[in-house]
Amino acid sequence: MSDGNGLAEALLGLDGFRVLAVEETVELVVLIESVHDVVGCSSCGVRAEAHERMDVEVRDLACFGRPVRLVWRKRRWRCVEPDCEAKTWTEDCDTVSSRQVLTRRAGIEACRQVGMNARPVASLARELGVSWWTVMEAVSEHGAPLVEDPSRVGPVRQLGVDETSFLAATPEHSTVYATGLVDLEDRIVIDMVEGNSAADLRRWTARADQEWLGGIEVVATDLAESFRAGLSPHLDHARRVADPFHVVRVGNRCLDKVRRRVQNETLGHRGRKADPLYRIRKLLLSGFERLDDRGHERMLLGLRVGDPADEVLGAWLAKESVRDVYLAEGRAEAETLLDKAIAGCAADEVEEIRSLGKTLADWRAEILAHHDTGASNGPTEGLNLLVKKVKRCGHGFRNFENYRLRVLLHAGGVTWPNRRHPPRLRERSPYSNA
Ligand SMILES: [Zn+2]
Repeated sequence: MSDGNGLAEALLGLDGFRVLAVEETVELVVLIESVHDVVGCSSCGVRAEAHERMDVEVRDLACFGRPVRLVWRKRRWRCVEPDCEAKTWTEDCDTVSSRQVLTRRAGIEACRQVGMNARPVASLARELGVSWWTVMEAVSEHGAPLVEDPSRVGPVRQLGVDETSFLAATPEHSTVYATGLVDLEDRIVIDMVEGNSAADLRRWTARADQEWLGGIEVVATDLAESFRAGLSPHLDHARRVADPFHVVRVGNRCLDKVRRRVQNETLGHRGRKADPLYRIRKLLLSGFERLDDRGHERMLLGLRVGDPADEVLGAWLAKESVRDVYLAEGRAEAETLLDKAIAGCAADEVEEIRSLGKTLADWRAEILAHHDTGASNGPTEGLNLLVKKVKRCGHGFRNFENYRLRVLLHAGGVTWPNRRHPPRLRERSPYSNA
């Protein structure tokens, strides 16, 4: 029976249950039973007879700083009607299910912590005293409906398509990539697709609502041929833009490649701490206008010592000429600057720089389209910035579906169920002098 005052039940807060006993060990063990003492047979309606009891243990939310184990003294009922086929059955309910290790409210909270706050599954599991799988199952059960909710993604005008690594390379396999689709205006991840090929992207656009796709005016991508191909035919109507962040990165990568090669050729080994070019690698990559006099001098000195044929200098100039395109005011100026950069690269003796020029020429229309649409001005680092936290806490995802779910829960603009917030205590009042 209960304590007669309902105090224990008020603390428990589970409708339909009463508290039989509480024991304190390293956790709080709360013995409960259902308040439904009179039950009719679900088959024939005759009043059922209590048959036997069995204890079912589940984890609930922590109480006053202590982990909680609920022990539900479950009843088994028997139908007394000899002709009834129901025979015996066990009581069950939605908030505490014998098929699950967590109560419903604990599962919802675990999902919120992992999804909304991007907390590692393992830390929740440790905190609750359950397995990793139990927490991940709760995230799937309560999170999937939020992610699949059709109202999560509204109309999108500017779509970003970006690649992210899903599994790092190991001796057994090379890096596994995923393609992310981002709403560049609302800054939410719309979806994640396994793989980064044209076919992977096209499969997604083919499945998407065609009317919704029709509303997309601009698509910003990195300079990947696979994406350009994969957007066809379903997004042929949209204006293609090369994402500025990725355009600049192509210049940075070219510079890095040349620096490494020159380093190797002049010193016969890969970059070491004391090598002149290795020491200025970060200065080379920062924007020229962001270097102070000292940085500027250090960079020039490093080049004089480590770059005898001015190859790294050439790559640095090429990189800066790419960045200049985005300093331009208006399309005409950008066009002049980009064509200068392309011509400069094409005339260079260094192969890596010529290759950069080819890439720029190949993406000329998309690069310049940025100046017409202003697309992706803000979220320059796009997807990777949004999913960084999820990836950091995931310690290498194995399962793509789990990865997708957690990225979308964290960065997909999910509407979380309302949680009532209590009033604030001890509000500082200007009139109190206590
Ligand atoms: Zn019956």
